[in-house]
Amino acid sequence: MTRFRARRIPRQLGPAGWNAILPAQAPATPLKGAATADLAVIGAGFAGLSAARRLTQLAPGARIAVLEAGHVAEGAAGRNSGFMIDLPHELTSEDYAGAGDDRAVIALNRMAQDFGRDAVAEYGIDPAFFDPAGKVNGAASESAHAHNESYATHLASLGETSELLDAQAMRALTGSAHYRSGLYTPGTVMLQPAGYVRGLADGLRRAGVAIHEESPVTGLTRQGDAWQVETPSGRLSAGKVILAVNGHLESFGIARGRLMQLFLFASMTPELDAGTLARLGGQPRWGVTPSDPMGTTMRRIDSAQGGNRIVTRTCAVLRPGMRAARADMARAARVMQRKFDQRFPQLAGMQMEYAWAGHLCLSLNGVSVMREIEPGLCAGCVQNGLGTARGTLTGMGAAELACGATSAITRHFTAQAEPKRLPPRPFAEIGANAVLRWKEWRAGAE
Ligand SMILES: Cc1cc2nc3c(=O)[nH]c(=O)nc-3n(C[C@H](O)[C@H](O)[C@H](O)COP(=O)(O)OP(=O)(O)OC[C@H]3O[C@@H](n4cnc5c(N)ncnc54)[C@H](O)[C@@H]3O)c2cc1C
Repeated sequence: MTRFRARRIPRQLGPAGWNAILPAQAPATPLKGAATADLAVIGAGFAGLSAARRLTQLAPGARIAVLEAGHVAEGAAGRNSGFMIDLPHELTSEDYAGAGDDRAVIALNRMAQDFGRDAVAEYGIDPAFFDPAGKVNGAASESAHAHNESYATHLASLGETSELLDAQAMRALTGSAHYRSGLYTPGTVMLQPAGYVRGLADGLRRAGVAIHEESPVTGLTRQGDAWQVETPSGRLSAGKVILAVNGHLESFGIARGRLMQLFLFASMTPELDAGTLARLGGQPRWGVTPSDPMGTTMRRIDSAQGGNRIVTRTCAVLRPGMRAARADMARAARVMQRKFDQRFPQLAGMQMEYAWAGHLCLSLNGVSVMREIEPGLCAGCVQNGLGTARGTLTGMGAAELACGATSAITRHFTAQAEPKRLPPRPFAEIGANAVLRWKEWRAGAE
């Protein structure tokens, strides 16, 4: 008998701002008592909901259930910055350059975007939550500007277009005089991430998929041909199971000692009134990633996306126990306020309405875990901080594996190596956090 026990259940720190600015959701319907399904998905983030949607396509009429520990859009799916990026964007590198085949990665990321676009059309998701507006890689210093120039040359060699914006154009876009220049790339889809995943969940419910929130899976046992999936108040028997829990894969004892469990932090202003918007200037929607991966991401959203607001994201901390501390949050909130004030002196000191931590995970060698773990148990996990696109892909791929289908996605991820083993704790943790702080410092104004 094969058995996996979940040693940890997700715990969130701070509100998921993107979800908080949308209307309240219907109450949860936790799994209660004994139930059966043909296919079960654990986790309702980008990967889990994409897996469920792909299952509806590959196995029409099958009984599909999704089990989520918390609520849809309350996990990392409602806490990220919403950049669904098509180009290579390797967070562990110094400059986002991918190590592998950039063209293949771009093609895959665009498949994820197409899948999302089709879902938006089919499920009637608000188009403001899936905006193909592109993004800008901002540069505050000369060296970052040079970096953007070489990135543009690399993109041109791949046949990808980009446009260099000067300081004036950056100010006209963002209202901020902070940026020396920016590199606009048109292919990023800008999500209202909570709105998009809620739209996916609503569409799946209408298609007959059972979504059980407040249903943390505590154990998985193989009995005969089926998996018994346990939650505190129920038990589901399913022929096939997909684990779409990102870093919590390790909580089930899989890929132990191989995943870097990170927390990133973000904050969101209150709704900006007309006077504040006039002082701010710039356009109503834009997204700026930093030219140094350890720098600060900024976004401006508008009333169709949950209010005229600015979102700031910066700071990273490694927490192998998958719990961020209040002290981590307090420090990040101070840094985010400073970054916001530097970029928008005309709004300096503005009190943020929401500040939160979000969990993600990376592997040292940048690989995901999308494979059959045991007969009938597939994983779509380890998104390396790029989960809007890669989570969509690993979810789709895990569903394909569960249905015995193959595609460019399954071929790509099943050919990847295992995540590399991490150095032993606690030195690795102390060392990694020191390196993160140093990289944060080195990113300076970026
Ligand atoms: C501040 C921040 C900014 C980010 N910005 C971006 C960005 O701009 N673009 C981008 O692509 N990525 C970004 N990311 C990363 C992105 O959010 C993640 O990569 C993505 O959410 C991973 O998707 P997922 O579906 O694999 O996992 P998750 O979104 O984490 O979903 C997994 C789900 O599984 C559930 N779960 C876990 N254990 C159990 C269990 N035992 N039982 C039941 N359910 C369980 C969790 O509650 C969770 O809802 C950011 C992350 C953060 C924190």
